[in-house]
Amino acid sequence: MDEFVLIDQFFAGRGVCRDDVRLGIGDDAAVTRCDDGFELVIATDTICEGTHFLPGTPPHVLGYRCLAVTLSDLAAMGAEPTWCTPALSLPEAEPDWVRRFADGFFTIADRFSTMLIGGDTVCGPLAMTVTVHGRIKQGQAICRDGAREGDLIYVTGIPGQAAAGLRALRESGAMADTGSDQVRSFWYPQPRVMEGRALVGLATAMSDVSDGLLADTSRLLAVSGLGAQMDIVDLPLDAVGTDDAPELALNGGDDYELCFCIPPDRRLELERLVADWPCPVTRIGTAQRNADIVWLIDGKPCNTVAGQFKHFS
Ligand code: ADP
Ligand code: MG
Repeated sequence: MDEFVLIDQFFAGRGVCRDDVRLGIGDDAAVTRCDDGFELVIATDTICEGTHFLPGTPPHVLGYRCLAVTLSDLAAMGAEPTWCTPALSLPEAEPDWVRRFADGFFTIADRFSTMLIGGDTVCGPLAMTVTVHGRIKQGQAICRDGAREGDLIYVTGIPGQAAAGLRALRESGAMADTGSDQVRSFWYPQPRVMEGRALVGLATAMSDVSDGLLADTSRLLAVSGLGAQMDIVDLPLDAVGTDDAPELALNGGDDYELCFCIPPDRRLELERLVADWPCPVTRIGTAQRNADIVWLIDGKPCNTVAGQFKHFS
């Protein structure tokens, strides 16, 4: 199938239309407008067959997932997504496959009012790179390095559940229960865009959790120049559904949840804010000055060493 026919048939003229886009698909580049008082926020992510997803993954999942993981980065800044540009490398352009891929893509693009304004399509190994643009009021982006001594550390969702899903798919292949909560959370991560935006002005530091809680919280605390006392006792580990739920929660990866810090005196405000969120929000620790990061696991303190925990691919 010809590239232009493919774009016309499955991508152009679909999804939300935004009035801050002066020129979308069809020219050499898109032209957009950014309102006064806002800054642009830009993130790019790639997913490749064999590294980030298994061969045979349904095209609807891939279309959804390649955009979802990039939106998660924008969510972690507290930004509002606006436009996206995917670069697709496809071994063959089989119309039914592309149609289902595009359906997955627009499901999430529309959910977050993100307009498709261009992209690139090439013939090659199966991989997708998506750039998402967003905006935020000047100076309001929530960075990783803003945590302060005494801040309370929280995480959204069910860390470990997606890793349990990936393992089920690996071990059972076609026999895996693709309707299980675990597989669904691996295939269809829920970028916490609304939640990230609501934390603007409240969270002192934030990051998304894609490489596992240990790796991502360690990175956030390290750039903030802090250690922490961490405790997994309140995490919703039952929902992970495996005997090794603590390990999956800490090391698993692919969660696309938010880890964030707030000042201790704003705890009640946070509790009121999250009361109607669609996901659990769990307090997992307290930031400390002049300290290591110590995790309490099954009541036993466990020192973590940066680099010790690897994303299993
Ligand atoms: P170029 O030759 O400069 O790479 P293309 O001919 O590849 O441009 O693309 C033509 C138009 O189609 C451009 O506006 C480009 O942004 C858009 N486009 C290409 N692939 C996609 C895609 N997968 N989704 C949306 N727009 C796309
Ligand atoms: Mg091109």
